[in-house]
Amino acid sequence: MVVRKKKEFVCRGCHRVAEGEVCPICNASTSTDWAGYLVIIDPEHSEIAKRMNITIAGKYALKVR
Ligand SMILES: [Zn+2]
Repeated sequence: MVVRKKKEFVCRGCHRVAEGEVCPICNASTSTDWAGYLVIIDPEHSEIAKRMNITIAGKYALKVR
């Protein structure tokens, strides 16, 4: 896992990397202040996805402020 930080929006609710200022999954507001890039390919067989309650494959951040 590569930890990096760049200008991308991350949802404050589900931690998913979003395209804009509102998350398309849960409609929560997004933040550009986040850390730890996480790609979930197979949420049903991923321990970290279960721990973070992620059920949809995609890009996520570990920490969002
Ligand atoms: Zn969300």
